[in-house]
Parts: sequence; C-alpha cells; structure tokens
Amino acid sequence: MYGRSVEDPAGFWSDIASEFYWKQKWGQPVYTHNLDIRNGKIDIQWFKGGKTNICYNCLDRNIDAGNGDKVAILWEGNDLGRDATLTYTQLLARVCQLANYLKSIGVGKGDAVIIYLPMLMELPIAMLACARIGAIHSVVFAGFSAESLAQRIVDCKPKIVITCSAVKRGAKTIFLKDIVDDALTQSAQNSVKIDVCLTFENESALQKQMTKWVEGRDIWWQDVVPKYPVTCDVEWVDAEDPLFLLYTSGSTGKPKGVLHTTGGYMVYTATTFKYAFDYKPKDIYWCTADCGWITGHSYVTYGPLLNGATNVVFEGAPNFPDAGRCWDIVDKYKISIFYTAPTLVRSLMREGDEHVTRYSRKSLRVLGSVGEPINPSAWRWFFNVVGDGKCPISDTWWQTETGGFMITPMPGAWPQKPGSATLPFFGVQPVIVDEKGVELEGECSGYLCVKNSWPSAFRTLYGDHERYETTYFSAFPGYYFTGDGCNRDKDGYYWLTGRVDDVINVRYIYTRVLIHPIYLLLLFELYGAYVQWTPHWHS
Ligand code: AMP
Repeated sequence: MYGRSVEDPAGFWSDIASEFYWKQKWGQPVYTHNLDIRNGKIDIQWFKGGKTNICYNCLDRNIDAGNGDKVAILWEGNDLGRDATLTYTQLLARVCQLANYLKSIGVGKGDAVIIYLPMLMELPIAMLACARIGAIHSVVFAGFSAESLAQRIVDCKPKIVITCSAVKRGAKTIFLKDIVDDALTQSAQNSVKIDVCLTFENESALQKQMTKWVEGRDIWWQDVVPKYPVTCDVEWVDAEDPLFLLYTSGSTGKPKGVLHTTGGYMVYTATTFKYAFDYKPKDIYWCTADCGWITGHSYVTYGPLLNGATNVVFEGAPNFPDAGRCWDIVDKYKISIFYTAPTLVRSLMREGDEHVTRYSRKSLRVLGSVGEPINPSAWRWFFNVVGDGKCPISDTWWQTETGGFMITPMPGAWPQKPGSATLPFFGVQPVIVDEKGVELEGECSGYLCVKNSWPSAFRTLYGDHERYETTYFSAFPGYYFTGDGCNRDKDGYYWLTGRVDDVINVRYIYTRVLIHPIYLLLLFELYGAYVQWTPHWHS
C-alpha cells in the first residue's frame, strides 16, 4: 500500500476517498501542488471540485449504514460518577439543533465561529454544527488566558463565541465565562465587537445565577438550542473550502492561524485513524487530548467519528481523584485503544506501578503516543506496565500543520523501536536535509522535511500567506520544512529529536535578509551619513 501511495498518489487517495459520501465527485487532476517557492506561490489542492460535508460523513453516513444506535460519545465527567452517552442518532439531533440555532442568528458558510469550551460533549457538537453549515470553527483551548482568546477573536472576527459557565478540572473550578467577558472587552477595544456569546450552563461546575451576564449579548445555550428542530439540511461545500482554523503559537510573533480545508482533511484523518490504531468496529477508543489542540480535532472529533467509532470524551484531569483515574476509565468503558502524550505517561510512571496494576486493563489492545519524542524508559513502562507487554505503541509524529499522522507505526505490522516514530504513513515522503538543504541518504542526521503534499496538509496561515511561505517553504526551497530535527537509522526508522525551527529562522534571516546586497549598500550609506552628520549634532 505504501508503494502504491507514493507511485500513484492520485489513484491511491481517490480509491479511499470514494468510500466517503460526495454530493459531487471531484474533478481532475485529483491534486495539484507547488511546494517550490522558486516556482511561484505555494499552493496545495486535493479533490478540488468535489462537493461534500464532513459532518454528514461523520454522522448521517454512519447512521445510514445501520449504526444509528451505536454509541458515538461516552462522556466521563471530572467528578466520579458523572457520565453520559450519545448514540450516533442522538448526536446528529444535537448537532442539528445547534446548527439551526447558528443559522437563525445569521451564521453561514465561510463565517468564523470561536469555540471556547472544555471537554464537554458540547465541544464536538459545536465543531460538527459549524461543519454542517459550512462555518469555519476555531476552537481555542479553554485553558488559555483572556489575552490569548482576545488575540484570536481579533484575528478571525467570529460571528459568535460559544463558551460555558465554568469547568471543574480536578479539585479546581475555572470560571470560563469570566475569562470570555474579559476577552470580549479586550477585543471590543480593538474594534472587534461580538454580538452573541452563547453560554452552556455546565452543571457539573457551577450554577447559572453565579455567572455574570451582559444582557442582549449573552444567551444560555439551554434556553435556545433545544427549541430548534433536530434535522438540518447540509451545506455542501467544496473539498477546498475551509473547515477550521486552529491557532498555534509561533516561536516569534503573533499566533499562526493554521487553516485546514474539508475534503483532503476528511479522507486523511479517517485513514490515519483506521490504520495507525488498527481500528475495528468493536473497539472503544479514548484519546486524552483536548479538542483545543489538533489532536482533539483529528483524533477525538473527526477521525473516530468518520470511522463510526465509539469515542470517550473526558472532562477532567487524568490524575483526579488519584493517579489511577485513567485505568479506572479504561476498565469502566472497556477501552481497547488508548492514545495519550509522553508527559502524562511520565507523570503517571512517577506515581508508581500500583496505581496501574490495581486495575485489570485487559481490554487494552493498542496504545498511542503524541506530542514529543517518547523517551525509551517511558516507552518501556507504557508498554510493559500499562499494556502488560501485549499492546503495540503507535508513536505518532505529526503537527497542527500536517492535520494527521505523518510518521507512525502500524500496530503489529512491523517491529517497533522504543523512542522511534518508525516509518512514514501512506503517501508521505519524508526527507532529511543538511543545513544547505541537500537531501541526505541512508543513515543520517539533519532537518526533517517532506517532499510531496498529502491530502490534509494545511493550505495557508489565515490572512497571511506570505508568512506561510516564509515559515515553512523558504528555509529549504522545494520542501515543506517541519521545524523538527531528525535522525534516520540503518533500518530507515525515523527518530525525532525536537524543534529546530528557531535555528533555521535565524539562518534564513541571516542569509536572505542581512547579507542581501541591497541591505549591505543601505548599511554602508547609513554609516556614511552617520560619519558626516555626527559632528554637527555634537556642535
Ligand atoms: P503541534 O504544532 O502543537 O502540533 O506540535 C507539533 C510538534 O510536536 C512536532 O513538530 C514535534 O516537534 C512534536 N511531536 C509531536 N508528536 C511527536 C512524536 N510522536 N515524536 C516526536 N515529536 C513529536
């Protein structure tokens, strides 16, 4: 499959895309791209001309296939004993009600919607409702400050902000609505006034009357949304129409609004989910990420639901009320695929094995890791203690920008090496280059780039295509530069070593800007003027 995916990407991805519902099939060619800045504007398009809807493919398509009564979301609250479920049919009804409400206040295709919610079921519901009507969601992690939220509101000028009263994380209550109020005041000072702030009353955290209220702007979700019909027509969008914006903090300057489009993202996240976790219809899947990050977009909301999976959404902190909470949840729902981050693995490892071994965990089949290189000792603990030595670990390397897994093991299909993300996913052609941008062969160490496009590659940085080109396509012309350092061993396995983009940006500025002859001339002239005028200033 990998061979075909790189020799015939158009045929390979068309065959997979055909398994989804398209109102209108895409045109030819299946994809076009220019990744070489020397040949003009960077441009990536997949399945252009195809009309589809990702919400329809997540919900209606699975219901039509007979899975309406299958559980889509198993929600586990922060406090023990608080939980809820939604089947695919129930989820669709809730999504449609919100979609109808959004339409009623004038939100439509191409409008931005900011979602500042914790891990309630309402978070994926809100994402899917936007997708259903062609609106562009931008989820802001509900741990971010009022300033960060305001910055994002000012950048994308949403028609509405969706939030909730408060959330409990562990023993702490966080008053989200207060943070939003503060952010909306700040954005109004920057000439971006928000007319509607839809607020979900999160009963697990706080009662209504304790929340501050701006009459005319703030609306309780529970007062309006349930009144709307449980069916809602789908807005068919072009494969290349925007699906969402997700801000990622740049190492310098303001956050970058990473823009993903619909068709390619849909096909790629569904396919990576299916293969990298060896997904089977009976699996119960839990990804501990928050939907405020890309992992929550691709592998809490879209990837699992596109596959008709049963998906756990967890509101709380993984160490509350104690370090055994994750395994308590695993046993409670009989989770078979568990996907998390090395930082959580390491922190639970420090708490001692007894928090793990007092739970059965016998349902576990596949483990996953994302976010940073997983050090071999944490990998071994995860494998031996959590997985009882029988669950392969999918160490998935990818980024907000890539939309889906890029380098990842296929569980059980090839040997693993603790600490290595192993080999590229279908269609991905990674290369390692030296500091001059020369492609290195075989065993080597350098900068990780990708030399082709893949369906879920981000298409631009919102409102700043030039920054997109400079940040990702200029340091090593002809390639997408990931910003990561990487080693490749003699077996062709990839070992990520961490971020190197700062080094490269400095190098870029130095070589392309400072040493540019015009700048040198200008500096020379300025120096001349300084020498000529300094005595006069002194006198
Ligand atoms: P983000 O932009 O927040 O999605 O973070 C992406 C970055 O996280 C990558 O560029 C890597 O530096 C790091 N990363 C993510 N997953 C892995 C992984 N499995 N192994 C090593 N580094 C990873």
